[in-house]
Amino acid sequence: MNTHTSKVGFVSLGCPKALVDSERILTKLRSEGYEIAPEYEGSDVVIVNTCGFIDSAKEESFNAIKEAMNENGKVIVTGCLGVDEGVVREVAPDVLAVTGPQQYEQVVDEVHKAAPQPHEPYVHLVPPAGLKLTPRHFAYLKISEGCNHRCKFCIIPSLRGDLVSRPIRAVLREAEKLVEAGTQELMIVSQDTSAYGLDLKHQTETWKDRDIRAHMTDLADALGDLDVWVRLHYVYPYPHVDDVISLMADCRILPYLDIPFQHASPSVLRAMRRPANDAKVLKRIKKWREVCPEIVIRSTFIVGFPGETEEDFQYLLDWLKEAQLDRVGCFKYEAVEGAAANELPDPVPEDVKQDRWERFMAVSQQISSAKLKARIGLEMAVLIDEVDEDGGAVGRTYADAPEIDGQIHLKGAEGLAPGDMVMAHVDDSNDYDLFGTVIHDEEDEWNW
Ligand code: SF4
Repeated sequence: MNTHTSKVGFVSLGCPKALVDSERILTKLRSEGYEIAPEYEGSDVVIVNTCGFIDSAKEESFNAIKEAMNENGKVIVTGCLGVDEGVVREVAPDVLAVTGPQQYEQVVDEVHKAAPQPHEPYVHLVPPAGLKLTPRHFAYLKISEGCNHRCKFCIIPSLRGDLVSRPIRAVLREAEKLVEAGTQELMIVSQDTSAYGLDLKHQTETWKDRDIRAHMTDLADALGDLDVWVRLHYVYPYPHVDDVISLMADCRILPYLDIPFQHASPSVLRAMRRPANDAKVLKRIKKWREVCPEIVIRSTFIVGFPGETEEDFQYLLDWLKEAQLDRVGCFKYEAVEGAAANELPDPVPEDVKQDRWERFMAVSQQISSAKLKARIGLEMAVLIDEVDEDGGAVGRTYADAPEIDGQIHLKGAEGLAPGDMVMAHVDDSNDYDLFGTVIHDEEDEWNW
């Protein structure tokens, strides 16, 4: 009898959406009895889930493929880079197979060819919530694939196709399973969360004796019943976003909104061909803050897009000062192979991009620093991410998503573990982080 259990090594690169793809592949393989190996050595085959969004991500993916080939030699490439097999084979001609994003079945088929499928599948080896690459206490919940927009700097629609939403019952069932398995915080991800359900014509399904549409507002409301932190990412400011602000004010979901504005100057937004390019967005942000004063808005921006003038950039800086966004990331525009923006005239020189990036970051740093300073003296709920042996811990308040925002560094955290929710007193702050002390005898109702 063959007692060898096939082992699969896995390298997962890219965004949270790619991470969810990796989790699906791993869950399927584990349910078939494969072991997931932490190292190249001893693995019967290695899967590399790649990212091809920008050139630096491609470079990282190529390096990971080369390393897996050198260390193991039996490699299956999947993910965004897999859309162009020729490019992958130029770098690593002998990889076993190349598949594109979301081609879970093909990846699993290729694994079957490369490493014998264990005779008895042990479905019970798979936890009910599937296998996760994030810690147990937070999880990404992908609600759709693809995107109907055609922003000029982006190749995601050509990699992942048009919007395909998951049925709302499937999303809610997955959320429920994650919460049953210990998830305390759900991050809702997609390419365009506000467009959720458009392709399904917002089809209504029954969930827990009520009718519910495949629509961002209904989804957020139903997730609010799960009694965990629910965070919305990649939201575009379409008019119906106003409805989720009321859900935030009612403490149904976290008062946190991740909106990738990318720019503020109308001419640059037009050149980028951005969706929901609304000149009145500043007024709407003001209104959101009136409805829900605790709301934290995070965003990303691109400086140095082709044709961006000093006037456009100054408009962006003034806009940011007025918008007072809480958390901000900024990228210097980088040409992406295959993007329509590559054809645009008037590229911005690298030294000008660098200068604008520095000026932008200086303003956002000042805003962040002032906003965090204003939290000193507050008592806030904190979800613990890590603890150390000296009574210290690192966690996050509602204002911070994992990996992209700041943290709160705590003392007095003896006896706590990752995933615990505690109240903490905010003692101090710097530009991006808070410092605080755990409150052990707090009996009050928790709020944000
Ligand atoms: S909204 Fe624009 S940037 Fe975002 S995925 Fe769609 S095309 Fe790309």
